[in-house]
Amino acid sequence: MDSITDSTADDSPSLKDPPLVDDAHAQTPEQLFSALNCSAAGLTEAEATARRRRWGDNQLPVTPPTPAWRRWLRQFHNLFIYVLLISSAISLLLQHWIDAGVIFTVMLINAGIGYVQEGKAEAALRAIMSLSKSLCMVVRSNAGMVSAGITIDSSHLVPGDLVMLQAGDRVPADLRLIEVRELRCDEALLTGESQSTSKKTTTLPADTLLAERHNMAYMGTLVTQGTARGLVVNTGSRTQIGAINKLVQKVEVTETPLQRQLGKLAQQLTFVILVVTAATMAFGILIRDYTIAQMFQAAIGIAVAAIPEGLPAIVTIALALGVGRMATEHALVRRLPAVEVLGSVDVICTDKTGTLTANAMTARQLITANNHYLISGEGYEPRGDFRRKGEHHASSIHTDDQQLASACRIALLCNDANLTHANNRWQLHGDPTEGALYVLALKFGLSAERAQLRPRLDALPFESEKRYMAVSHSAENGVQTMAVKGAPDRLLELCQWQLGITGNEPLDKTYWLQQLNSLAAQGMRVMALAYKHLPDDQQSLTHQDMDEGLVMVALAGLSDPPRPEAIAAIDTCHNAGIRVMMITGDNPVTAAAIGKELGLNAKRVMTGAELDLLGPADFSQIAETVDIFARTSPANKLQLVEALQTRHHTVAMTGDGVNDAPALRTADIGIAMGMKGTDAAREASAFVLTDDNFATIEQAVAEGRTIYDNIVKSIAFILPTDLAEASIIILAIVFGWMLPITPAQILWVNTITAVTLALALVFERSEANIMARPPRNRRQGLLTTALLYRILLVGGLGAATVFALFRWKLEQGASIEQARAMAVNALVLFECFYLLTARTFYDSIWHTRYWHGIRPSLLAIIVVVIFQLLFTYLPLSHTIFAVAALSLADWLIIALATSPILLVVELEKVIARRYNKITKGVSAHARF
Ligand code: ADP
Ligand code: MG
Repeated sequence: MDSITDSTADDSPSLKDPPLVDDAHAQTPEQLFSALNCSAAGLTEAEATARRRRWGDNQLPVTPPTPAWRRWLRQFHNLFIYVLLISSAISLLLQHWIDAGVIFTVMLINAGIGYVQEGKAEAALRAIMSLSKSLCMVVRSNAGMVSAGITIDSSHLVPGDLVMLQAGDRVPADLRLIEVRELRCDEALLTGESQSTSKKTTTLPADTLLAERHNMAYMGTLVTQGTARGLVVNTGSRTQIGAINKLVQKVEVTETPLQRQLGKLAQQLTFVILVVTAATMAFGILIRDYTIAQMFQAAIGIAVAAIPEGLPAIVTIALALGVGRMATEHALVRRLPAVEVLGSVDVICTDKTGTLTANAMTARQLITANNHYLISGEGYEPRGDFRRKGEHHASSIHTDDQQLASACRIALLCNDANLTHANNRWQLHGDPTEGALYVLALKFGLSAERAQLRPRLDALPFESEKRYMAVSHSAENGVQTMAVKGAPDRLLELCQWQLGITGNEPLDKTYWLQQLNSLAAQGMRVMALAYKHLPDDQQSLTHQDMDEGLVMVALAGLSDPPRPEAIAAIDTCHNAGIRVMMITGDNPVTAAAIGKELGLNAKRVMTGAELDLLGPADFSQIAETVDIFARTSPANKLQLVEALQTRHHTVAMTGDGVNDAPALRTADIGIAMGMKGTDAAREASAFVLTDDNFATIEQAVAEGRTIYDNIVKSIAFILPTDLAEASIIILAIVFGWMLPITPAQILWVNTITAVTLALALVFERSEANIMARPPRNRRQGLLTTALLYRILLVGGLGAATVFALFRWKLEQGASIEQARAMAVNALVLFECFYLLTARTFYDSIWHTRYWHGIRPSLLAIIVVVIFQLLFTYLPLSHTIFAVAALSLADWLIIALATSPILLVVELEKVIARRYNKITKGVSAHARF
């Protein structure tokens, strides 16, 4: 894997490199082949490697990261920092050097943390971007079949390579097209033209404008339709897109809705805090006869204590950590805001083939007009026997069985898949459905070279709307034939004949439908194989060729078992209040059989055609109640997403094809398949699954819920402790008491706890019930009544405890320095004890689960305690903060007085659990 940083390595061409070929549009393919020293058979691997060494990787330089000084300055552009800046300026004016110094240090520490964490988050996102590398199909002359390609990393393309394009691909390099089939490209990126352009192969005059070079496909443009083959003429920064230096690979670090919501909350808080501070100041000056200078100092203390300056950084860190964890679990995040939406997903619409099933397809049965064969063998290894159903031995039936031979020939010719054998493993290049049929043909003894004997003349590529694929080629006896494979129900509509033992006979539709249903009912994916003879002079194919004279040859039953982990994941989703819908292009009977095995609600299956007949009200009803949809089109997918959204569901939707893009974009969370998905689907999605596995979606949802939990936990920690800190000063002034904690001391407490205790919570693991409670309601705001209640309870208790200890110590005859040392340490220990209970919403401290993953919190507490010891015993600290040393007995008293918060909140958890059980009927409802 090449990381993005490699693009600036020495072997990479610099931006100044001139193109290798700059008038490819004006040259014929033959001229280009000789100029680039290659042929229509493709390069060999050895040659490709040599060229890569010589010309570098096919990559564009990436946007340089934001310079360090800009990132550093950006840390100070923040409302909280402005308040702090003004505070320290006022302190300077009042000649309170210590306060000013402490505030300034707070500011620097905060900016430092922000700087480091933001850098980490950005680096994490960059690393993820570079993981989602793009692939392309190339023809390499030593890779077996000539007409089929192998998949390689697009950055390994070299000039002279032959690339195969299909709808949904991003063009991987600058190509001179040498073969096109209804190809259209969207070149807006390069030319600004929003209409897609139709492509040809004819050689053009040298002075043709870029936008009119219809025989070229340029790097970064999108194939919207058709297929093509093109010769790579320029790669990397030598391409047109490289020349104009408009970079395709962009890292976007956008603000998420939650971050925005928090920003707003913080602004409102700041406003309230400033008003309360001003009121307190007025009260103190007018009624309590403090001096203005005294009140300014106190006001600064209140403001700094109450403002949750650590919050924005904490959210960023929580998101970045989560995104990193998801990446290791095969879910790449393309849009940051999606991470928090994940936790509220309540419907997942998923593909069947490859996502719920293993997509390692094997042809197991073949049914012709007169025979039923069973095929042995495993995976894509092309070894196995055919035997007639009911017979025990593989007899020597094959070679002279015309129906079987014909079926296998169609399977071989109407096929773009390819196999390579390396390290004792057979690797498939291309679509698994085609792979299974290709292996079937190889098992029958047809070798790959047969395709060279019957070169392909033309092809109608597979499209999900048409559900078939057809190719034309000349047969041994010189007759041109069209080989077709596709969905059986579709081909049964089109065929009029079937291949009998003695030749063509009229189609017995009832027979085939019966066979189709029996295969489908076993959960098999069924493909039909058909052919027809073409007139000698016919060169190209059109969809009209399907209308007449098509002969049905066989049905192939491909087994594609459900992934065991998908079964478990669906079960988990159901427990988590998430509905799983299967939306597939496959046959309804197959869909129902697989759906049942997967544990989906298979009571009713709707097809796309049935959906198309429904009115809006019925459609909405069906969308709510039916979980399996078969023979659907991409348009059906979009309608289903929209119907679910108007019913206030939060929908995650998977997709792979170019036509899935609208549904992926409309869904709350679009999820693209990393392996079989097109570039177009990937770009429309918020997530990419690198393993195409449904279980990964379930894990990502759990991760999303955990991230959100941790953010809420941080808020539920920071706000109450800030309230306690601020109210200590406010209460002292209002009641005319001596300040138990000076503003400078408050600043100290705030700084050391913000970077330790509050931060520990974003490292919390998922709680045990993470997937056993219903999804979070997205419309619910951040400040719920439960949270407000918690803030008041903890804030009030904290302030009361500190006051009590302070006054008690004074009454014992201690010095004010000692009493304040007592108060400060009480406040910090109170926060430590509160942290221990705030780290879980549900698990109580006496549950064994509670103790798993406690390490970050313990570590934070240890660090804080060390700092407090320095604060209490270091002579330097005595001068700065005006405190005095404490005795061991003092510490014990502090611990005794502050630890009850632990029990109080634990009790609150128990009561909340009871209450939820009674009112909501669930044992574990979302807490805040
Ligand atoms: P899904 O993958 O969910 O089954 P698709 O839209 O990919 O849905 O395929 C729809 C149907 O088209 C499949 O059930 C199959 O019968 C047929 N089909 C799939 N792939 C091919 C192909 N490469 N060539 C011909 N027909 C195909
Ligand atoms: Mg498919």
